[in-house]
Amino acid sequence: MTKPDDKDAPFVTEITPRSVDFSRWYTDVVRRAELADYSPVKGCMVIRPYGYTMWELIQQGLDRRFKQTGHVNAYFPLLIPVSLLEKEADHVEGFAPQVAMVTRGGGEELEEPLVIRPTSEAIIGTMYAKWIQSWRDLPVLINQWANIVRWEKVTRLFLRTTEFLWQEGHTAHETAEEAEEETLRILGLYKEFVETELAMPVIAGRKSESEKFAGAARTYSIEALMGDGRALQAGTSHNLGQNFAKAFDITFQARDKSLQYIWGTSWGVTTRLIGGVIMTHGDESGLVLPPRVAPYQVVIVPIPRGNWQQTVLPRARAIEAELSAAGVRVKLDDRDAYTPGWKFSEWELRGVPLRLEIGPKDIEKQQVVLIRRDTREKRPTPMAGLEAAVRQTLTEIQQALFERAVRFREEHTSRVSSWDEFKQAMEGRPGFVVAPWCGSAACEAEIKTDTQATIRNLPLEDSAGGACVRCGQPGVAEAYFAKAY
Ligand SMILES: [Zn+2]
Repeated sequence: MTKPDDKDAPFVTEITPRSVDFSRWYTDVVRRAELADYSPVKGCMVIRPYGYTMWELIQQGLDRRFKQTGHVNAYFPLLIPVSLLEKEADHVEGFAPQVAMVTRGGGEELEEPLVIRPTSEAIIGTMYAKWIQSWRDLPVLINQWANIVRWEKVTRLFLRTTEFLWQEGHTAHETAEEAEEETLRILGLYKEFVETELAMPVIAGRKSESEKFAGAARTYSIEALMGDGRALQAGTSHNLGQNFAKAFDITFQARDKSLQYIWGTSWGVTTRLIGGVIMTHGDESGLVLPPRVAPYQVVIVPIPRGNWQQTVLPRARAIEAELSAAGVRVKLDDRDAYTPGWKFSEWELRGVPLRLEIGPKDIEKQQVVLIRRDTREKRPTPMAGLEAAVRQTLTEIQQALFERAVRFREEHTSRVSSWDEFKQAMEGRPGFVVAPWCGSAACEAEIKTDTQATIRNLPLEDSAGGACVRCGQPGVAEAYFAKAY
């Protein structure tokens, strides 16, 4: 019923081939798929409606999980007095190079400059010091959906921009154990979310000292592997210990009436997750979206033959209504200024998981044709029971994308025990290289200088392994190394 003319349409040829230049392919896809665009503000992007819908779906999925685990949302100011940021020494030192500051307001020089939040520990900690008095006030489990500004020299759409969107959780606990439990609960929540909704497999682990958050006692992360073999840090969860509690004087009267500092955590994921989805699943024709975060899960393309407006179009509209009523995000592309072939290419480029074609012949046969974006498999499907078939296919696509990404990661993970093997693995096919590490920051730094690879994270469970791949001293962990975004 349709010619396989998809691949020659103009939209597709405008994308740099993925195999030729992954980085340009990425930028081309982001812009041509209308996810985001550059703005007149250096380093800041505009998230377009198609990309913002993805962010909304990500927000909904996370927000539901946060609330199910007892968290509530609140909102704190964008502007933070610089003196508050300076209270925690490591924190201010870590963020100083990236901070943007407001020095004038209302036409006058401000008495105290205001920092545009690079993160909100300082302002939230200040408020917690007021709100928390007794052990009965604990735990405090607050999340904020907000924008953040970190001055960046080199920016890339979604992956690193001066302003970005995120959520930041900030919690306060009675004991060290509870804070660690919360930090790991969120790490697990992030992993489950990213794997279930974004079909992006991740390694959950602990960051090395040099890679941890400025001011944290311990940082954990989830790390994904992108289609070019580079790792992407997809989320972090920090156990702050009592560092911020001491800096901001967040104390409470304990059960034994003594005055104690709270134990804190903070954790976040950002709009960079959208970049992760693009680089995990995309192909030569553009975006490939997991159904659960696809703005449109199904696009209906009517085939304009004969008196299609009297026959095909009403049926297409009925299908749209039926699927929409069933909660499927569906788009009917009935624009007559474009040919079906052009539409196929466009929606392929924009990553819609399932295309539904319907023409006069299909009406006669009481069927439609479903075409999967990931495999391009064409499946004639009876109109009776269509909704169930669509749902089933979307579930299959979601699962298939995850499995494909897991296979890719397995194929791009090597385990090495010597420095020669390490260099060879890093220079050859990029990906994760798992190797024993002695725990020394010097070895870590040398490895980075020599190969650009950093420790992405260390396994949660004991993994001492053999001798350090760099210095030969006894290893403390089997570290996951990779070149990273
Ligand atoms: Zn070493």
